[in-house]
Amino acid sequence: MSAIDWQRVPVDLAPIECIAARALVRNKSRDFFWYSPVLNEKLKNVSADLVVCPANEDEVIRALAYCHAYRIPVTPRGGGTGNYGQAMPLKGGIVLDLLRLNHFLWLKDGIARVGAGLKLIDLESHSLPQGWELRFHPSTRRSATIGGFIAGGSGGVGSIQFGGLRARGNVLGLRLITMEEKPRALELRGGEVMQAIHAYGTNGIITELEIPLARTWPWHEVVVSFANVGSAAAFGRALCEADGITRKLVTVCDWGAAQYFKPLRPLLTEGRAIALCVIADPSREAFAALATAMDGKIVFERDAEEVGDIPPLYEFTWNHTTLWALKADRSITYLQCLFDGPDYLDKIAHTVATFGDETPMHLEFTRLDGHVAAFGLQLVRYTNEKRLYEIIRWLEDNGCPVADPHTYILEDGGMKTVDTAQLAFKRRTDPLGLLNPGKMKAWADDVPFPAAQSAG
Ligand SMILES: Cc1cc2nc3c(=O)[nH]c(=O)nc-3n(C[C@H](O)[C@H](O)[C@H](O)COP(=O)(O)OP(=O)(O)OC[C@H]3O[C@@H](n4cnc5c(N)ncnc54)[C@H](O)[C@@H]3O)c2cc1C
Repeated sequence: MSAIDWQRVPVDLAPIECIAARALVRNKSRDFFWYSPVLNEKLKNVSADLVVCPANEDEVIRALAYCHAYRIPVTPRGGGTGNYGQAMPLKGGIVLDLLRLNHFLWLKDGIARVGAGLKLIDLESHSLPQGWELRFHPSTRRSATIGGFIAGGSGGVGSIQFGGLRARGNVLGLRLITMEEKPRALELRGGEVMQAIHAYGTNGIITELEIPLARTWPWHEVVVSFANVGSAAAFGRALCEADGITRKLVTVCDWGAAQYFKPLRPLLTEGRAIALCVIADPSREAFAALATAMDGKIVFERDAEEVGDIPPLYEFTWNHTTLWALKADRSITYLQCLFDGPDYLDKIAHTVATFGDETPMHLEFTRLDGHVAAFGLQLVRYTNEKRLYEIIRWLEDNGCPVADPHTYILEDGGMKTVDTAQLAFKRRTDPLGLLNPGKMKAWADDVPFPAAQSAG
């Protein structure tokens, strides 16, 4: 890499927009890795050498061909809201900023085709007037891109209806550019899309996506207060199993987590747990009856479209919950585990009884392979790495698999095993291992990059 003349690269790539200013390059080299004290230590000094901002697919292809010729690593980036250093250029080189690929191409019969750099909020500003919305979105709806979500995310608001990104049918097709001497544009369809979903951009740059949307409802936001997290979780399960109620979001937080929701604080009672829910308007009566029957007290409600001092309710859920806590206490971090199986409420209760306020409980209810389960995104009052991994080991030993959010390694974060299809695909699409290097464990990229020649 030292042989690259970085002043020369923007000249060679012109008229493709490049950013060389150090502060901006550093800024675009970071994501939300600092949620993890472990990653914060490891990645805080990571930076690219240059940011390249293609305006269209032709410019993506030109940039990739150039980087291939000079063996320059390329790390794609959308909104930069990923949590595990996913979009951080571990080996320097170029950050490929895809925000300008933000075209809404078409919407037909509930299917949308869009540029990968389109922000989710902008996608919906096109689709909502036509009565369609995203099936589900991360709580970073206002800042994340659709390409970044599909390459780096998993699920979110709406997953209680539609499951996550890996559920068959949630991504219909995608267009991807390979990292070769002559980059090719491939259209993946059906099951083929799994090769690029949640692959951190290690096996191609996604330029376009085709996704099915959902018919929109007038949505209603409700916060219900419960005596304790066990009662709130039981309500969450009952709500998710109430077939006549249309719901988009079912989140449960015990007081240890809810206390950090500053804008909601005046509405909450110290010591009580809450459920944060988004339901369709016609379900309001049935929802209220269920809440009352389960000893819940509605403490806040409004139409989702109403704007006020309180942000949208979804911005207190999923990985936003941890953000509220981090704003108050930088020593806090979090975990991601799965409470599944017929006894999943018992597993939650056992975890709460074992760790108490060391891991304030936060649950996101979801559909998973045809049934309801809950993701635990519990906060952690962090002391040290050893203790963190003791907690992780306890969860795994007690039937709650953990998707470790304290690693930037793709396979260690969730799957725990090598995704052979993604690896085989990478051999075809990125034979030199230049895309987002250092993230895929199965790829032996600890081998140094071929000696870079002077650019130009
Ligand atoms: C407060 C907060 C809340 C969050 N809530 C959720 C949530 O509810 N659900 C969830 O799943 N995640 C969540 N996340 C994680 C993250 O916001 C989402 O996954 C988001 O969709 C990522 O989109 P992005 O555009 O910011 O992607 P980036 O962070 O820019 O990139 C994510 C990954 O995708 C790669 N990539 C980006 N664009 C492309 C492309 N066009 N082609 C190939 N690879 C690409 C990057 O290299 C990186 O590996 C949250 C994060 C934060 C900080």
